[in-house]
Amino acid sequence: MSGRRFGQITCDSNSSNSRIVKCGHNIPAKSYVSGTELNPGRGFFCCPYWKEPSKNCLFWRWVDQRNDEEETPSSNVIVADDEDIRTKYASMEINVTSLKESLKLVEEKAERRKQAKKCLFDDLVSIREENTRLVGELKLANARLLFVLFLFVGLLVGIAIAGLK
Ligand SMILES: [Zn+2]
Repeated sequence: MSGRRFGQITCDSNSSNSRIVKCGHNIPAKSYVSGTELNPGRGFFCCPYWKEPSKNCLFWRWVDQRNDEEETPSSNVIVADDEDIRTKYASMEINVTSLKESLKLVEEKAERRKQAKKCLFDDLVSIREENTRLVGELKLANARLLFVLFLFVGLLVGIAIAGLK
């Protein structure tokens, strides 16, 4: 645990599972998932203030990055260029991630609208079905009324014929 250029990893000795990654501000770093083609789905940590360039401490590291990756002498030699590239790359990853998040929000909104539309359509269909059912019932009731009327007229005619005899 030494020579961290970008923040540090604090190991909690009480529980081996909890590994708190802190940025240069010594506060827990934010974790994101990379959306670039080079590292799809690879988790990374960065400074929680990455949206504010004046506050951003430029902390950046992959979730699965090995501890010795930054500490080998050969990588220290090119650290100046590496840092510049790393910073640019970090902002690229963050931009892609936030773009994907916005896209997800837009997609969710569209999906919700689609669902609302579908609900309206379903309502319309059930109203139509109800309408058809009511029309059917009305027709049946009319037919029954007509039948009763015929029976009544028939009865009257029968009575009249019987009365004439
Ligand atoms: Zn920070």
